Parts: sequence; structure tokens; C-alpha cells
Amino acid sequence: MHEGSFARAILLSVRREAQRAGMRRVLKIKVLIGEAHAVVEEFLKTMFDMMKGEYGLGEAALEVEKVELEVKCPACGKIYHPRDPVFICPECGTPGGEILRGNELHLLSIEGEK
Ligand SMILES: [Zn+2]
Repeated sequence: MHEGSFARAILLSVRREAQRAGMRRVLKIKVLIGEAHAVVEEFLKTMFDMMKGEYGLGEAALEVEKVELEVKCPACGKIYHPRDPVFICPECGTPGGEILRGNELHLLSIEGEK
């Protein structure tokens, strides 16, 4: 399951960061996820909550910030927000395009106690 592997990746990097910072309890985690990853926030949080105990992060709450997808048409240069997984320019009908935004996947912050 897609969301499960995202949850695992988040938990692994949080555990690593918390160890590096000498944090014993992690309480809040904030991640930035681009729309291009097609992650369903609700599923991600469910998976996260199911798995966090295994990583010693049982007290951590996950907060998700999303970045909307933005694509640039290769033909006319229009920048648009695609509604479908297949990008089609609303201006000239050209398919495909360069993703300008929405590919992000970052750990924004970890809050906790030492
Ligand atoms: Zn176009």
C-alpha cells in the first residue's frame, strides 16, 4: 500500500533525526507532501498511527501540509493545476508538461522533549 510505505519512510527519518537531536519523546511531526505523490492524508495518518509504536514514536502526532500540483504546458507555456492524473493543457489541449510544484516530500519539523 502506497500510504504505508510513505508512513514507514516518515517514521524512519523521524527516528533518525530524533536520535541525532537526542530527543527522547517525539510529540509532533510536520511533513510537506506534494500533490504529485497522490497520498491520501486520511490513509497516511491511519497507517502512521498503526506503525508508530514499532519505531518508538507512539506519542507522535502527524501533521500534513500539502502542496498543490502545478504544471507548465510545453507548447504554450501556460501554468495550470491539472484535475486529472493525465495532464492536458486547458488552453491548447497539449498533453504532458513539466511539473513545477507538487513533487515535494520533506520533513518540516519535529517537536518533542529531551
Ligand atoms: Zn498549452
